[in-house]
Formats: sequence, C-alpha cells, structure tokens
Amino acid sequence: MAEQEASGLQVLLQTLQSSLDRESILAILQLLGDLLSVGTDRRIRYMISKGGSEALLRTLVDTARTASPDYVILLPLFRLLAKVGLRDKKFGQKALELEALDVTLILARKNLCHSQNLLHCLWALRVFASSVTTGAMLGINGAMELLLKVITPYTQKHTQVIRTAAEVLAALLKSKSNSRRAVNRSYVPRLLRLHQDWHSHDTAHSFVPIRRALLLCLKHIAKLRSGREAFLAAQGMEILFSIIQNCLDDQSLEPVISIVLQILRQCYPKSPLPLLTTSSTYSFPVPGIVTSEAPRVLTEEDYEDDSEEEEDKDSDSEDVKEEDDDLETDVNKLSSKPGLDRPEEELMQYKAMCLELSCSFEELESKPGDDLNSDETEYANHHHIPTAASPKGLFLNKDQISGGQEKEVLVQNSLLSRVKMGRSSIHLTSKRGPGMNSYRNVHSNDPGIDSSGSDVSDIQASFLEDAGDMDAISCPRISASFSNSTKTRETAEFIDQLLQTHLKPMVFHDPYLYMAKARRTRSVADFTMMAFPDFWGHCPPLSAQPMLQRKCGVQRIKILEDVRRLIQPSDIINKVVFSLDEPWPLQDTASDCLQFFSAFESGNLRKAIQVREFEYDLLVNADVNSTQHQQWFYFKVSGMRAAVPYRFNIINCEKPNSQFNYGMQLTLYSVKEALLGRPTWVRTGYDICYYKNHYRQRTAGAGAASGKCYYTLTFAVIFPHAEDACYLAYHYPYTYSALMTHLDILGKSVNRKQVYFRQEVLCQTLGGNSCPLVTITAMPESDRADHLEQFRQRPYQVITARVHPGESNASWVMKGTLEFLVSSDPVARLLRENFIFKIIPMLNPDGVINGNHRCSLRGEDLNRQWLSPSAHLQPTIYHAKGLLHYLGSIGRRPTVFCDFHGHSQKKNVFLYGCSIKETLWQAEATVGTSNLSEDVSYRTLPKILDKLAPAFTMSSCSFLVEKSRASTARVVVWREMGVSRSYTMESSYCGCNQGPYQGLQFGTGELEEMGAMFCLGLLVLELKSGSCSHQLLTRAAALLNAEEESLDFYLQRQLLICLLPKRLVCIF
Ligand SMILES: [Zn+2]
Repeated sequence: MAEQEASGLQVLLQTLQSSLDRESILAILQLLGDLLSVGTDRRIRYMISKGGSEALLRTLVDTARTASPDYVILLPLFRLLAKVGLRDKKFGQKALELEALDVTLILARKNLCHSQNLLHCLWALRVFASSVTTGAMLGINGAMELLLKVITPYTQKHTQVIRTAAEVLAALLKSKSNSRRAVNRSYVPRLLRLHQDWHSHDTAHSFVPIRRALLLCLKHIAKLRSGREAFLAAQGMEILFSIIQNCLDDQSLEPVISIVLQILRQCYPKSPLPLLTTSSTYSFPVPGIVTSEAPRVLTEEDYEDDSEEEEDKDSDSEDVKEEDDDLETDVNKLSSKPGLDRPEEELMQYKAMCLELSCSFEELESKPGDDLNSDETEYANHHHIPTAASPKGLFLNKDQISGGQEKEVLVQNSLLSRVKMGRSSIHLTSKRGPGMNSYRNVHSNDPGIDSSGSDVSDIQASFLEDAGDMDAISCPRISASFSNSTKTRETAEFIDQLLQTHLKPMVFHDPYLYMAKARRTRSVADFTMMAFPDFWGHCPPLSAQPMLQRKCGVQRIKILEDVRRLIQPSDIINKVVFSLDEPWPLQDTASDCLQFFSAFESGNLRKAIQVREFEYDLLVNADVNSTQHQQWFYFKVSGMRAAVPYRFNIINCEKPNSQFNYGMQLTLYSVKEALLGRPTWVRTGYDICYYKNHYRQRTAGAGAASGKCYYTLTFAVIFPHAEDACYLAYHYPYTYSALMTHLDILGKSVNRKQVYFRQEVLCQTLGGNSCPLVTITAMPESDRADHLEQFRQRPYQVITARVHPGESNASWVMKGTLEFLVSSDPVARLLRENFIFKIIPMLNPDGVINGNHRCSLRGEDLNRQWLSPSAHLQPTIYHAKGLLHYLGSIGRRPTVFCDFHGHSQKKNVFLYGCSIKETLWQAEATVGTSNLSEDVSYRTLPKILDKLAPAFTMSSCSFLVEKSRASTARVVVWREMGVSRSYTMESSYCGCNQGPYQGLQFGTGELEEMGAMFCLGLLVLELKSGSCSHQLLTRAAALLNAEEESLDFYLQRQLLICLLPKRLVCIF
C-alpha cells in the first residue's frame, strides 16, 4: 500500500470520529466504502490495524444515541461494520467494550417493522456474535427473544431478514449459556416446527439458507446433553429423518442434508456395546502381576460437553498428523549408550545359537561344486511340492524347488528384473490365469454378479454337489486316529478325500504337514479346529487388485440405515446368532441366518447379531487379558445365499480412522473356490466405510476409560457361491502353524551343500510355544582354513517380524525374505556368501495364535518392552535382545537391524530409522547440534529401497526418535547396541499411491516381493559401503552384465546408478 494512501486513511478515520457534521461523516463513509470495495482483504486488515474498527464502532454509538437516530448515516455505517467485522477477530470484543451491542439491539427492536433498517442491524449483530463471549452477552441482553420474533413461520415477505436473523441466532447458540437458555425456554420444539414449516413450503429449494440456519441452531443446542434430550422428546429424530431420507442425492439440498446427518448422529442415544464386559473372552493365567493397562487419560469429556463434530469422512484428507511434542529432545537419551541390561555371563547361552561361528564343517568335501544327488528328500510329503516351474513365478526356480542342481537362472524371474523401473510393464501385462475370470468378477467393485462356475470340470462339479454341507469343512486339528468321535472321523476321512481329489501342489505349503504343526500349537482356548485357508493353502492371484473407488455419499447412506433402526424398527431382528461368551441358541441350520465360527488359530470374532435379514453387527474380541485393541478379525461364515448383498458392521473398532476409508478392502477366501482350483485370498467388499458410532464404553468401572468411543467398519459382501464356507479377515492371515510349516519345508528344500539353513528355538513363549530362530548363510566353499575364516567373518544382518500379531502383512514380507534368501537367485547367492542372516520371523507367536491384534498374553505391547524385558514375562523380547547383546559382545554387531511391521494409516512401504540430529532439528530444540557428529548412513538403505522396490517410498520414511517409542526394538537396538542402521519397516495394509503399483492394493505377492527387495537393498548397501570387498564388487558387476540382455536400457541405467559405487563405474 502506498504511503500516501496510508496516511490518507488515517486522516479519514480521525476525521470520522471527531466530525459532528452530517455531510462530512457521510462523505467519509462513502469514501471508505469505495476504498474497501476494491482491492484485497489486505486493505481491510490494514484499516483494522489502524483502528478502523474502533472508529466505526464509536461513530455507530454516537449516531445511535441521538434522540432520533439518522438512518442515512447508520445504514452505510452498518454495511461497513459488517464488512470490517468479518475480518477482525477481536471485533466482538471491541463492540462489547465500546457499548455498541446495546445500541444495536435497541435499534433492532425499534425497527421490527422496518425491514431494511432491521436487516442492517442484524448484519452488525452477526459479526458481533462471532465472538462467543460477546454472543453470551447478547444472549443475556435478550437478543435471542428478539430474533425469534423476527424468525416467523413461512412467509413470502422479507425472507432475507428472516434468514439473517436465523443466522445470528445460530451464531449466538455457539455459546453454551445461550444454548442452555434455549433449552430451558423450549426453543427446540419451536425451532423444529419452524424448520418443518419452511421445509414443507420449500418446493423449489429456495429457502435452503433459512433451513440451514435453523438446523445450525439445533446442532449447536444438541451439543448439550439437555439439548439432545429435548430434541429426542420433541421427536426430532423422526422429523429430521423423514425430511432427508428421500433426498440424499439432491445436490441442491446438500447444505441441509449434511447438517441433518450431523444432528442425527449427535442425538442418537449413546449406549454401551452389546457385551457383558469389554474384557477379552479369553484370559490366561500369566506369571507376575497382571498389569491392568494404565487408565487412559480422558480424551473426551463427559456427555454434557462431548461436542463431537462428526464430519463426513467422504472428503477427509487421510494425512496422518505427526506429533512434534512427542520428540525426544534430551541429548542424553538420544546418544548411543552401549551397555548390558543383564549380567555378562548370561550372554554365553547365546553362543549355542551361533553355532555357525564354531562349526568345523568336517563333513564338507574340499572340492566344492560337485553335483549333488538329492539326499534331502526324507520329507514325506515331498511330492506335494511342484517339480514344474513355480506356478507363481516369483523367486523360485525349478531346480531350487526340486532341491537339485543349480541351473542357469531364468532371467525374467530374477529379482533384478523386477526392480522398480522395470517392474510396471511386467506387472501390468501379466495375464490372468485360466478360470480366474468368473471369480474375479465377483470381487470386482461392482456388486451383483455371481459366478456361474461354468469353467468347473464335471468331476469337480459333481463332487461339489455331493459335498453339500460346506460346514463339514471345518478342519479338525486332531486327526481321526486321535479321536473316538465318529463325526470327527468322518470329517477327517472327508478331508482326506478332498485332499486327494482337489489338492493342487502349492509351493512351500503342505496340508498334512500343516495339520501336524497345528496339532502342536498351543492356544489359550485350546482350539480343536483349523481354518480351511490356513490348512489348504493360498496361491496369490496373478495380478493385484485395484483400490476400491469410494462411491460418493455412501457413508451417509449407511449412517441413515443405522438411524433407521431407531425410527423404523419394524424390520429389526436383533438376534444373537454367535457368541463366544454367552450361551446362544444352537445354530439352527434350517433358519435363514448366516453361521459364524472363529475358534481357530488367529481367529477373532466374538459375537454376531443379526440386525436385519441380510445385515449383521459383529463384535471382535479384545486381546487376551486386555480390554482393548479390537481391530484384527478373522472368522468363518457359512449358510449364505447366492447373489445377495450382505451388510456386515464391525461395531467395536477402536482406531479413529482407517485405510478402509481410502480404498482398502478386507480379504475373503472361499472354500468352494479353493476346491475349484482357486485357493486364493482375494480383496473383497464394497460400500466400505469406517466411522464413529453411538457406542460408548460404560462410564463405571475402575481404571476403565469412560466414554471411550467406538467406530464401525461397515462393508457389503456378495459371496461367490451359495451355501459356501467363506473366511473373512482384516488382512491375509498368516498363522504360527503356517510359519512352522513353512520353515520346515524351507529347511528341507534347500541345497544343503550350498545353503546353510538352521532353524532352532529362541525360547518358549508364555503360552508354551516355541519361538523360532533361523540362521541363513552360504556354506563355506570347503573346510579349508581360509574358507572357514571367510565364512565366520561374514557380517551379521538381523531381521525380526510380527511382534504385533494383527500385522500379518509383516509375515508375508518375511515369507518373501526367507524364500528369497534360500533361493538360487544370483543376488541371494551373493547375499548368502557375504552375510549371516539371523531371523526371528515371529516375535509374538502367542498373540498370533490367539487372534490378538497388538499384545502378548499379558495384554502388553511387546514392542514397548525392549528397554528392560524380563526372561519370564517377555521371553521372546528378552532373548532377541540377548542374542543381539551377545553378537555385540563378540564384536559382531549387525550391519542392519530391521523389524517388520504393518501400518494401518498410511500407504506404501517405508522405514522408520533413528537420527539424533533430525530429531533435534524437527523438535526445534535449543540444544546446539553443530558439535554433535552423526553418521548419515542410516539414510542409505531407504534411499536404495526407494530406487529398487516398487512398493517402497522414501517420502514416508522418518528418522525421528519419539519419547513414546523409547522402548521399541528400533530405538533400543540403535541406542543400546549402537546399530546406526536400526529400522522398523512398515508395510501398508492397503497398497500404494506411488510407483508401479500406484492405485493397487497389496496382494501377498507384492508383500513377498518387498521382502526379497529388502534383501537386494542389503546387498546394494554393502556394494556402496567403503568396506565392500573387491571380489564382491566384481561379482556384482558380472551379475549385471549377465542380466544385461533382459533388462531394458532405462532399467539398466537405474541399476548402474544405484548399484555401483563411483570407483567401479569405470569397469563398464
Ligand atoms: Zn506394528
């Protein structure tokens, strides 16, 4: 703004306040009006900063207090006030101090019959009321009564005045004292009647702004408990529901609909969950004092004030806000503090877990590379492992699967050919397998298509007809020989028959072995059944599924359906059809409801209530010995009809938001499909929404958080077949028994002359299960001293996973890591020859087995126990840490430590690492960071993965150390063991929004690929490090050359840049 103009404005304002002359005041108002009608807000703000608001308010008071106020001055003055007041945050306060409220109210009263003058007064009142304190003051002075006189039932006259009056009233009701006054004076029924009247005359939608303002009044009043009671008593739910139920799609009514929905949600009577207790159905006598979880700090006040603004999530941004005040700023706590948490002599027990360091390999012939005849097929069910090329074409080559000689690796299958830049074309052009089409249609976003099953062979079809009762395919864990029950024996025979008729060989899976493993798995509830998918096995689909496109307005339709239960209860059944903890009528297969079952490994469903004919409310179980963490679910449903959309609502979810709002679908496995040769978990469900519901935790109860909110995950499913048995899960399940099966098969599939694979027990869990520890490296070239020396000097890499049982994605990533590391891929061979991998694939077996989402059997998050784990209470953490301490004590600290996790809020795969400097900078800590030295190599691995792995993105990585994470694996291994590259790797439950997989949900194939890519990242990290041996560099270069022909030019360049340190580029 020009100097001249500025000083001119100040002169004008001064003259306005001092002038008594009507003509000059009018002239100045005219000038100010002209000045502010052009230009930007900046001009108004400048005027405010120069005392413009005060000058105008003083002029108002002076003019209004004369015996006969001069409206020729007042009207333009009010217009200016409304304009300036809108931009002045302190306007209400200034008006209060300068006594402008009273004079305006008096003027308004005087002009009840003079609409033009009245309208101007209301404009001023509207800006005064934008401050809640000023609004309260106006309320005390009778403003609300005055406004209600103006807001009449339907009329054709002066609708602008009525609209503005309603808007002023809505602004006043933001003040709780005004709202209280409104309830006491029975405004609620009055406002409802007014709204109804305007609504009934609003055939052309001309009065939407008036209706919206009236509804806003009700919405503000409904923030009070007494307001909600008054609203319910006045039949508010019924009235508003009937108004919008048929016009949800009407865009022109949007301003009305959105507020009505907010009011309906706010006023829906709160109730406790339909459970006797929120404590888990399963309890387990754990050693030590059961620490009841620390009572939560009340995050929401009691009902009187719970002014929850529930907006439609349709438009919400999914960005997760990071909390800066959680950052650690204490340099001492950030600095590496190597030290033992236990007596040094205790570490010796871990020597036995590092046999590779002492083994003499006397059995090795000194000439390596001899042809090996398979002497490793003692594995009884070996014939189930395919000898043809791997059907999934992932990382396995046929020679490796058959455990024989290594042949030339098929280049199109090698990991290098799948790195980020080269991946998209391969992936997107992948063809669908035969018979996939009909099934896939069912799971597309378009409901209503049923599979005709036309591609089923005759034999299969007739078998399926015979099978009839799909419920029989609840696989007993105990085979017939262990049971006297005829029923069980029949079932077992039936299963046997199924396996013989239908089972196709599946890589790294074997049902018989699975059954044997499951029999040894110990669960709190002593499960006797296995879930069919875990038993039978899963083949990833040939292509990834796209994210679900959310239909606009679907959430409000669902919410309105929920509200209808209260208002039109005629079709409500409300019958408990399944419950773990209450006796419920035996399932009557004749009745037309679905049957549920969850008493199997990793299963989680606590209760099912049939709400309407095709709608079920479901409740999931809290973690064992806990009252919370409901998120993971996995259950069987049967007795469905064909082509019927079933609606399911999981009503006791806890997290405030979910990827289910942003394209994620749940997973489904159909037994009939499996028997038809498609044993595949697929993403399924449509009309998926996740929103806060009306259930609240009971207020009573010691230590219980009162008033805690719950969230509903709602989804619709059309099952692929009638009378099928289907399994639904939060994410692709991966049980402990599946891991144990997998490890066994892996161990038996490796070429033992080349791959050193050792599986042992890290420790026993509280639940009596073994926590496996796997060691993978290459066998020494021979038993010659220098070869043994090379073998023993290989650096360690330590990888762990699945400390959080609900994060089954972590297990699929781990599965990819394990299979890749033992494979004959040349990258894997290089990795084995240069590193020793110590892998703990499941840090929390008990949690996984018992269907927990977050915790151990003690109901505690094991990833918050790394600071001081106890051998008795957190054995897996204690011994994982002990092993790491041991490696440190013998000078073999791992190069990289990584703990695999799943992330429910973000997309893609990314790493969390630790950096002192980044943490202090982010926290804007006052501590000087200039004299802190920090090796920035923690950034190298994520940067490499960003270039290589299709699913990975650097942009979501973070290297901040949070106070709340002080006891996680990542932070403790970094700080206590001094491992600078200590990470958590997070994989989305959903999928990717970048890279070649953009817009796709993760399938198990993509997750497994990530596990392999992680390993490739470790190799590249080594190649880039200063300590990399010349031999390794040369071999890596040769490997690239070998791949040359198959890789396109662009990809090759990427690899060169990524793989090769400067000093090697000259070779090419
Ligand atoms: Zn986690």
